[in-house]
Amino acid sequence: MSKPSHPKKELSYVMIKPDGIQRSLVGEIIKRIERTGLKIIALKMFVPTEEQCWTHYNKDDAWFTSKGERTVEFRKKSGLPVEKEAIEYGKDIVRALIKYMTSGPVVGFVVEGNSSVTVVKKLVGGTEPATSDVGTIRGDYTIDTYSICDVDGRAVRNLIHCTDGDQTEAQREIAIWFKPEEITNYRLVQEEILYDVDLDGILE
Ligand code: GDP
Repeated sequence: MSKPSHPKKELSYVMIKPDGIQRSLVGEIIKRIERTGLKIIALKMFVPTEEQCWTHYNKDDAWFTSKGERTVEFRKKSGLPVEKEAIEYGKDIVRALIKYMTSGPVVGFVVEGNSSVTVVKKLVGGTEPATSDVGTIRGDYTIDTYSICDVDGRAVRNLIHCTDGDQTEAQREIAIWFKPEEITNYRLVQEEILYDVDLDGILE
């Protein structure tokens, strides 16, 4: 039986979306993630294809329905006609999302480190920037809301994607965007103070 991976090897896939690039926030965003001690083990700029995006955002019917129900609620409240089932409004969100994600270059990267999924999610903040916590990437650097997106029929522009799931999900996402040879296994000097049990390499 293979040895379970050590917690310091936990992976998260992160992608600075087209609005993050256009807002010149690549450095700011990477700085916030990098300074926690998480290690970047792969990084590149590219324009995503529609096919990659559909594979990446493999949402289920429950997601479409719950998102669509919020849109239906908003349309009723705003006196707009409700012309289709909630699930269809939910699917429209992903169609709009793919248009947004393929509109220009993104920067994708893989981070490794203890609790990387939780730590990156905490730094990124909630989906809707206007209600994301202050101090998070989405909360600090942009202003989008579900309601303006419902009015204009577009996806929420929230600067960044990060893995939200277990390591199987992280590995699934990483395999869409990176070839194995694009990922570098290496040691950061700071890993000694983050993880080393004996701390016997510091004093001379
Ligand atoms: P995330 O994990 O916070 O990125 O959120 P999800 O995985 O649920 O959704 C993927 C992306 O779709 C989000 O980052 C937004 O860009 C967009 N999105 C999600 N929910 C909505 C919504 O209710 N309305 C609109 N217009 N866009 C949404």
